[in-house]
Amino acid sequence: MQRYDAIVVGAGPAGLSLAEALLDGPMRGRQVLVVDAPSAAADRHAFAWWSDRPLRWDDLAWASWSRVAVRGPGQRTAVDLGAWRYRVIDGEVLQRTVRTRLQGRAGLTWIEATVDGIEDGLTEARVVAGAQAWHGSWVFDSRYRLGDHVVDDGAVDLRQAFSGWWIRAPRPLFDPDLPVLMDLNLPQDTHLRFLYVLPRSPTEALVEGVSMGPDASVPDVPAWVARNLGDDVEVTRAEGGITPMTTGTFPRRAGRRVLKVGVAGGRIKPSTGYALARILADTDAIVASLQRHGHPFDLPGDGWLWRFLDAVLLDVLARRPAAVARGFLALFAHNTGPRVLRFLDQRAGVRDVLAVGLSLPWWPFLRAMVTRVAGTVARRLRPRPALPG
Ligand SMILES: Cc1cc2nc3c(=O)[nH]c(=O)nc-3n(C[C@H](O)[C@H](O)[C@H](O)COP(=O)(O)OP(=O)(O)OC[C@H]3O[C@@H](n4cnc5c(N)ncnc54)[C@H](O)[C@@H]3O)c2cc1C
Repeated sequence: MQRYDAIVVGAGPAGLSLAEALLDGPMRGRQVLVVDAPSAAADRHAFAWWSDRPLRWDDLAWASWSRVAVRGPGQRTAVDLGAWRYRVIDGEVLQRTVRTRLQGRAGLTWIEATVDGIEDGLTEARVVAGAQAWHGSWVFDSRYRLGDHVVDDGAVDLRQAFSGWWIRAPRPLFDPDLPVLMDLNLPQDTHLRFLYVLPRSPTEALVEGVSMGPDASVPDVPAWVARNLGDDVEVTRAEGGITPMTTGTFPRRAGRRVLKVGVAGGRIKPSTGYALARILADTDAIVASLQRHGHPFDLPGDGWLWRFLDAVLLDVLARRPAAVARGFLALFAHNTGPRVLRFLDQRAGVRDVLAVGLSLPWWPFLRAMVTRVAGTVARRLRPRPALPG
C-alpha cells in the first residue's frame, strides 16, 4: 500500500492546476499522486477565459485578445476589453505541457488508471482502482458524470452542449485580432443558441456551437459554416461535450479527507458555463486554506446575490431563451466590456450591477425575480412533515 501527502483524481484543468499549485506551495518536497483515466486526445477541447490579472496558464494560451465581437440580428458590436484579455488554450497542449512540467518535479507520481471509488477515513482516504489502492492524507476528486449533482426543490437544471469544428479555409476568412465571443444569429426557440469563433490565423479558426436549454441539442454548426464561410472549407478536427447549467448543489466535502474540485465541485458558473478561471481561483483558495489551517476546506462561497442572479437568468433561459439572447445583446450594446466582465466574474460593485440590470429587457427578468422570491418564501413557509414517532 503506497501513501501520499495528497492524491489528485483526474487531470483536467482542476487536477492539473491543483497538482502544480500543491507542489509549488504546501506540498513542496512531499509526495503527490495524480491518477488520471486513460483518455483519448480527442476528449480534450479548447478552453477560453477572460481575466484582468495574470493567471497560471497565460503563457500557454495561443491567443490573447483585447477586443471581441458580439453579433445578433441587426447588431454587430466590437467590444473593447480595456485591461482585460480574452485568451484560449488548446486542451491537448495544456494536458501535455503541464504533465511534462509536473513529471519533472520531485515528489510527483503520475499513474494512468480508472478510479472506482474513494473510501474516506479519519486520518487519510483510500483511492481504489481495480486491484490497486493508494492512501492519501488529502484526496482531491474531479470525477464528474453529468447529473452527479443534487437537484434540490426549486433548482433550475439545464444543460449546455458544445459542438466545435476546427476550420481551415482556402482564403482569408477570419480576423485574427477579433474573435467572435457570441454570434446569436441562430434560432432561439427551445434553447439559447450561439456560436463563438476563435481565429488562429486569417485561414484557421475554431468555430464552436453552443446551446443552453433543457437538453443537449447542439446548434446546426454545418449550416452556419456553409452560410457564413462557404462550402469549400475543410474541417480538420471536431470536439464537443455537455456540461451542467444548474442551480443544483455540488457537495464539496465528500468526507473528512476528501474534497471535490472542478466541475465536480460546482466550479462551472451556472449562468455562463465558463469554469476555467473559477477553477484556477479555487485552486489558489484550496492552497491558501491548507497553508492557513492545515486543511483544504476553508473556501469562499459564491455569495447569495450572485447565486440569486444566476438562478434568475436560468429561470428566464428555461422559459424564454429568446429573451436571454436579447439580454446578452443588450448587455454588450449598453455597457463597457470591463463592466460586463466584472459582472460575469462576480466582482461588480453596486453601480455595475444597477447599470447591467437597467440595460436588460426588464420584464422577463423582473418577473423571474419576483417568481423566484415568491417560490422561496412559499417553500420556507410550507409545513414540514412531522417526524415519525
Ligand atoms: C466541450 C467543452 C468546452 C468547454 N469550454 C470551456 C471554455 O472555453 N471555457 C471555460 O471556462 N470552460 C469551458 N468548459 C467547462 C469546463 O471548463 C470544462 O468542463 C473543464 O474540463 C472542467 O475541468 P475539470 O478538471 O473539472 O474536469 P475535466 O476536464 O472533465 O477533467 C476530469 C478528469 O478526470 C478524469 N477522470 C474521470 N473519471 C475518472 C476516473 N474514474 N478515474 C480517474 N480519472 C478520471 C478525466 O479523464 C479527466 O482527465 C467546457 C466544457 C466542455 C465540455
